[in-house]
Amino acid sequence: AHLDRIAEVDGEVNAFLHVNTQEALAVAGEVDAARAAGEGLHALAGVPIAVKDLIVTVGQPTTAASKILEGWHSPYDATVVKKLRAAKMPILGKTNLDEFAMGSSTEHSAYGPTRNPWDLDRIPGGSGGGSAAAVAAFEAPLALGTDTGGSIRQPASVTGSVGVKPTYGGVSRYGAIAMASSLDQIGPVSRNVLDSALLHEVIGGHDPFDSTSLQESWAGLADAARNGDVKGLKIGIIKELHGEGYQTGVENRFNESLELLKAAGAEIVEVSCPNFQYALGAYYLIMPSEVSSNLAKFDGVRFGLRVLPEEGPMTIERVMAATRAAGFGPEVKRRIILGTYALSAGYYDAYYGSAQKVRTLIQRDFEAAFAQADVLISPTAPTTAFKLGEKLNDPLAMYLNDVATIPANMAGVPGISIPGGLADEDGLPVGIQFLAPARQDKRLYRAAGALE
Ligand code: GLN
Repeated sequence: AHLDRIAEVDGEVNAFLHVNTQEALAVAGEVDAARAAGEGLHALAGVPIAVKDLIVTVGQPTTAASKILEGWHSPYDATVVKKLRAAKMPILGKTNLDEFAMGSSTEHSAYGPTRNPWDLDRIPGGSGGGSAAAVAAFEAPLALGTDTGGSIRQPASVTGSVGVKPTYGGVSRYGAIAMASSLDQIGPVSRNVLDSALLHEVIGGHDPFDSTSLQESWAGLADAARNGDVKGLKIGIIKELHGEGYQTGVENRFNESLELLKAAGAEIVEVSCPNFQYALGAYYLIMPSEVSSNLAKFDGVRFGLRVLPEEGPMTIERVMAATRAAGFGPEVKRRIILGTYALSAGYYDAYYGSAQKVRTLIQRDFEAAFAQADVLISPTAPTTAFKLGEKLNDPLAMYLNDVATIPANMAGVPGISIPGGLADEDGLPVGIQFLAPARQDKRLYRAAGALE
């Protein structure tokens, strides 16, 4: 049914870069046979899933939505993909994204933008717009995304879906093509809170192949989602993450959610995180610095595309330059240049060093806030889905859309975005974000389960 739905709508939505028909049907067939034979199966066995094309898979291409990886096939599966296979979840295909996950609209894909199923003239968020649009358009019940500064939560917000960024280190990143390693995290996208929790239990857990992986068990997330209750829970409104600069309809739905939580027995308090105002600026120094280093490996020798210089000597350096000039899109180049500059001798302390200090201040803001509240709440994004093209030529306006999601990545804490209703002025979905202390992902499901 999902493959049929993809065939029906994906020409317009463009959520998928690759559809994995044969293998998905084969796995579904295996599940049917196992069920008929009375074999024990995982709760999600047979439930199809879409995978963001930043996560490597054997037997399907992985492009990171970049020309530079065109034609490349991974020789190994990401740990999360191995876990999906072990649970016998058919992988429907690979979803579109901003090139190397850099963006907030999926317009920076080298393979054309994904469109928001709620309104095809609008963006589905980014960078994981393909995963969120696939779920929102009923092309897949579940999807995997990656979240470096909001790329799971913001697309979930603008497509009326649920998206979760787990605690940093909670889900193995082995096989997720690195964007900014100290911020990246893989997580679930779904249509309801319980489905994300079930998927989170499948993909979570320690992995010796990821040196940042936590020794932590994630059993009990689904129970927390099922029992969702906020009686006696202290929920802290982050003063700096709503109000001025947030669309009226977003603010209205946010206030309504607070009333609902109060009525369900939560205690609402206000907390202040004064350094969050610097989070975006610090992120856009730390992230490109890590990007410039992580993307150095795409040299025209080891992976994918190789472009030879048209004339002159055929040195390695010139092959590298020709390949990277042709293979990377403008946003990727912008960030590599920014990051290389921020890390260069003479500027390192002023830019990268200062940004790391700000990062510590943000972590301290979280510590202080979590001393006053069990979970924190804010709108996920300042606006609903904007129009395709609206911010494409204004990088700063695009970056501003991440203002509420970035602090969580800077501190490694988990976050969830759930649908909070539709904005009055445009009838488009609004996302509500909960944040919890590191390793307390269960609290997110408990709170989100109560509000759903
Ligand atoms: N929109 C943010 C950026 O462009 C976040 C990206 C992400 O989370 N991968 O960097």
